[in-house]
Amino acid sequence: MNQTIKNILLKMVFPLCICHKCPSYPKKDPKVYCERAKSDKKIEEKGCICDKCLVWKLNRFSNYYYCIEGKDEKSKI
Ligand code: SF4
Ligand code: SF4
Repeated sequence: MNQTIKNILLKMVFPLCICHKCPSYPKKDPKVYCERAKSDKKIEEKGCICDKCLVWKLNRFSNYYYCIEGKDEKSKI
């Protein structure tokens, strides 16, 4: 997919991501890890709330800790 379209789609998904409410979220970091990439920051595993997120449900994702593991293989972006 063309990078400009990817950026537009990521911008649309961004407000749906609930990582900022997660106890493991490393503040001040771009979210939407499931559609993008893992975090560069060190993450302490304190739980993952991805299964409460609309992006996770709509994409039928089944994994957790995308901030550590990186993009889901089912991501279409
Ligand atoms: S599934 Fe997780 S990483 Fe992906 S947008 Fe939702 S909260 Fe963020
Ligand atoms: S990917 Fe999961 S564990 Fe990581 S910040 Fe988002 S909700 Fe929390």
